[in-house]
Amino acid sequence: MTVLLYDGRDFGRDAWVEAVLHHFADCEVRVAPQTGDPADIDYVLVAGPQFTPLGTYPNLRGVLSQWAGVNHILADATLKPGIPIVRMTDLSLKTGMTEYVTYHVLRHHLRAPDYERQQRERVWKPLDAPMAPNRTVGILGLGTLGRDLAERLVHLRFQVRGWSRTRKEMEGVTCFAGTGELQDFLRVSEILVCLLPLTPETEDILDADLFAALPRGAYLVHAGRGPHLVEADLLQALADGQLSGATLDVFREEPLPVGHPFWTHPNITLTPHMASLTRPETGIAYLREAFEALERGERPASLVDREAGY
Ligand code: NDP
Repeated sequence: MTVLLYDGRDFGRDAWVEAVLHHFADCEVRVAPQTGDPADIDYVLVAGPQFTPLGTYPNLRGVLSQWAGVNHILADATLKPGIPIVRMTDLSLKTGMTEYVTYHVLRHHLRAPDYERQQRERVWKPLDAPMAPNRTVGILGLGTLGRDLAERLVHLRFQVRGWSRTRKEMEGVTCFAGTGELQDFLRVSEILVCLLPLTPETEDILDADLFAALPRGAYLVHAGRGPHLVEADLLQALADGQLSGATLDVFREEPLPVGHPFWTHPNITLTPHMASLTRPETGIAYLREAFEALERGERPASLVDREAGY
């Protein structure tokens, strides 16, 4: 069995290669660009957005994704139908995302940027802010990550709402499903979190119409994918005061170009697509289990539904 690793990133690469060599010690592991004969490759492990078109490998049996979002793999038109794609949903990914979003929700909720500004200006003034039970957080996407986050926010006593494609039931969470219920979901979501996968249905979903449906002064935490957001609409909603601010982890163009207005916007907090980083030690062990399930002819838990696009 031959496994080919693509990892075009410039940080943490050695640890990933080491983890793949360790967990796939019984396989021949090749690291791109040293691919050898394409006909030898059984599995491709994709870590990062760049890889050679997967149709290059005529005997490919499966694709293992180091990312939870697989829109970059599904966009490869050369990938033959029926080739299974397994995506990352290990515990470190959930833990990291729940920590990231909870931090940014609390930061806004507790008015941390206002107090930081006051400290710089030597102003001693307590500010008004609601308690968590009087604050509503809406989560777009109640999948692996959205559900974990929702549980944590319920625990912190926020009013939590979630929106998904198919109906969900979760204790303490008011659940909405489908486009027909989107407006109701948005109506009272004072803090809106986007944890959707990027599909043709969700591209550009964070636009002027959606922002207009939120309560005035709402805050956005976006950690889905860059093309969910219509960037000009966000800037306009911030200028109008319809949104009070945003935390953004993902962008249409990554790395974010140095001249981009988001860098210096006073009400935007941005991070370099790091909301949740898979850890090599747990991530590769997870993909190894999925690989074994595929080899036994079983269906791994995080098999991508190529029809649905996530
Ligand atoms: P899942 O596939 O487990 O969950 C996706 C959720 O989105 C599901 O609840 C699904 O509904 C819902 N959804 C999909 N399409 C629609 C639609 N058209 N309308 C309404 N709801 C929809 O994904 P994960 O939770 O694991 O990950 C979510 C996304 O988070 C990833 O795809 C990626 O884009 C992003 N991500 C970002 C990271 C970062 O560091 N910034 C790290 C990891 C992930 P249903 O339940 O009905 O299927």
